[in-house]
Amino acid sequence: MIVAMQERATEEQIDAVIDAMVEAGVGVHRTTGATQTILAGVGPTASLDLSKFELLAGVLHVHRISSPYKLAGRSFRPEGTVVEFSNGVKVGGEHVAVMAGPCSIESREQMFETAKRVKAAGGTFLRGGAFKPRSSPYAFQGMGIPGLELMYEAARENGLLAVSEVMEISQIEPMLPYVDLFQVGARNMQNFNLLRELGMVRKPVLLKRGMAATIEEMLLSSEYILSGGNYDVILCERGIRTYETATRNTMDISAIPVVHKLSHLPIVGDPSHGTGRRDMVASMARAAVAAGADALIVEVHPNADKAASDAAQTLYLEQFEELMGQLRVIATAVGRTL
Ligand code: PEP
Ligand code: MN
Repeated sequence: MIVAMQERATEEQIDAVIDAMVEAGVGVHRTTGATQTILAGVGPTASLDLSKFELLAGVLHVHRISSPYKLAGRSFRPEGTVVEFSNGVKVGGEHVAVMAGPCSIESREQMFETAKRVKAAGGTFLRGGAFKPRSSPYAFQGMGIPGLELMYEAARENGLLAVSEVMEISQIEPMLPYVDLFQVGARNMQNFNLLRELGMVRKPVLLKRGMAATIEEMLLSSEYILSGGNYDVILCERGIRTYETATRNTMDISAIPVVHKLSHLPIVGDPSHGTGRRDMVASMARAAVAAGADALIVEVHPNADKAASDAAQTLYLEQFEELMGQLRVIATAVGRTL
């Protein structure tokens, strides 16, 4: 259930409504917007008489939610979520953020060169995998924590934030000092134990769509994190498996407006995994921004052809710089900044 409070509702009125909900056995998640407070009730609401809440002082309206996700649904935060980072960078809202870096962290030189160029081009996040989910156990598995130390240093020296993939619960704690944004990869979108644990963490999470997941399943996965009290969740469209073989995945651009309609969470476009092909990354990056993406995550590497993973879809730094110029024009055309 959703209880929308009146714009001028007092703290006492809000507290009284929360008490009544708790007394009815409902768990309450509060969101305090600029003008209005919304209380989302999770629990055995099906059998409740909602009119009883409608009569409480300060309540504007109460409604039952039929959608299976309550905290991720648009009505929980009609104005949209803006995730704010320690340096003031925001994901969601008017600005389009750009995250870029190699698929895998490989060396100090690679990360420092990349960070410098990403920053100069207008990026705000440095990406790089230290724990890599590879199809083959014989492929490069990532540098682990020493790699993250390198990335974090390169990011901070260049005024960037760091984003990296966490594959299992035991990695959360050791990763905490080195990441600003935990990435949950496509293969782990339904690793529910990991999601629950990330709900306990007070650091933003980038949740990538599973390669065979529906948008509803992605939103339900985000609900696992939100219901733990971590409201800083950012979704990511990274392409899904279809019968088409011309590209590595089929980038579902329409997922961007669909998510904006169904949810308040920001959504990022990943044209690198979305296409798997360097020559198509720019087209899909432009399309994602035009469609309203709140950010992009792009694989770039100083020596793209020699990247230890995902070389075929990795942009050279020069290509990334050119793309950034194009994205600025598109962002302006759709009323955003980049
Ligand atoms: C990645 O970002 O390098 C990655 C492995 O992404 P995904 O989980 O979308 O395949
Ligand atoms: Mn990759």
